[in-house]
Amino acid sequence: MSSLALFDPEIFQLINKEHKRQVEGLELIASENVVAREVMEAMGTILTNKYAEGYPGKRYYGGCEFHDQIENLARDRLCQLFGAEHANVQPHSGSQANEAVYLSCLKPGDKILSQSLNNGGHLSHGDPANMSGKCFDISFYGVDFDTERLDYGVIEELARKNKPDLIVCGASAYPREIDFKAFAEIAEDVGARSMADIAHISGLCCTGLHNSPVGVTTYTTSTTHKTLRGPRGGVIMCNKEYANSIDKAVFPGMQGGPLMHVIAAKAVCFREALTDDYKEYAKQVVKNCKVLAATLEDNNFRLVSGGTDNHLCLLDLSDHNISGQQAEVALGKAGITVNKNTIPRQALSPFETSGIRIGTPTITTRGMKEEQCKQIGDWIAKVLNHIDDEKTIAGVKDEVTSLCLKYPLYPEIRTL
Ligand code: PLP
Repeated sequence: MSSLALFDPEIFQLINKEHKRQVEGLELIASENVVAREVMEAMGTILTNKYAEGYPGKRYYGGCEFHDQIENLARDRLCQLFGAEHANVQPHSGSQANEAVYLSCLKPGDKILSQSLNNGGHLSHGDPANMSGKCFDISFYGVDFDTERLDYGVIEELARKNKPDLIVCGASAYPREIDFKAFAEIAEDVGARSMADIAHISGLCCTGLHNSPVGVTTYTTSTTHKTLRGPRGGVIMCNKEYANSIDKAVFPGMQGGPLMHVIAAKAVCFREALTDDYKEYAKQVVKNCKVLAATLEDNNFRLVSGGTDNHLCLLDLSDHNISGQQAEVALGKAGITVNKNTIPRQALSPFETSGIRIGTPTITTRGMKEEQCKQIGDWIAKVLNHIDDEKTIAGVKDEVTSLCLKYPLYPEIRTL
């Protein structure tokens, strides 16, 4: 029996319940994934016992010789993966990576131009509720109301008018390809720096399935736990000239001791992302999303922007007279986890929302392909068309569970 089960049965049982939920359900949250067994193993090690403030070769604590080697491996692998000149692997999260960039190049009150939250941006890009929105002078761009895509002409006009010090691009809920070069050029034209936050799409950028901002925008930030499929955390990449200011902003600017067990797990994730298997995975994520989106369209649901180029699609539920909140609850009862999401021009409040966001990274890691995605799209439509019909929803749940049991989270032990 495990020591955790003996020492803390309450936590042990809750972990087991969550394990069962993940095994038996379809996780379609676009920002989630299932880490490799080896990533999980690195996270659960004695590396968590150590303080290693500072950077390799320049620590504020003794006994860091192995930590230096681990962090160097993580940095080198990340640079190799994205062709970056410099990488910082210490941010504890995507939000902290973004905040460290702001700290490195802005003063309180400086101006940021970024994508608004209700048009697909992220809280940490200057939302009034976030520290970024309280400390800086923010102006927002959104998507064009007709095409529901970014309009670079309009963004350029806004940049000329508002003269930002930093232009932020990258999104949490934007199903289309982002032109990072266009953003970098607009920033250069108005004398601003640029930051691309590829938290969602980093796994597509490093495999050539989406253009990469690394070396194009001044800074690139990412989480490591979404399409990249690593432990929860953040990273920053930039050219050598900005390396020192970024490193200082992360430590001692934003954080104390790095989470060395997580940095080791990030290194394992980067190694995995360099393999051909991972490239195949990333391709399949995009293919699966296209099939899921097309199936929903065939079932008369409208997709924001009419489709998807990446790992997620946004469903507009306004024509069906249901809110994102109601859809999230009904699908949850069927073992299908999605999140309600604001969509451009929505009528409902951000708590109710008029849409849901659906992503394929997790089901693709489990081995599901186009055939299963078509089936899942049909199940989603069935639930949403019978939102008050508990019997239909229970029937879908049974089918969902039997599909999921064919695709275990951790099928076999691998060797590289
Ligand atoms: N940036 C983007 C675009 C995101 O979508 C997210 C998270 O969803 C973050 C940053 C923040 O990441 P974290 O939750 O690790 O702070």
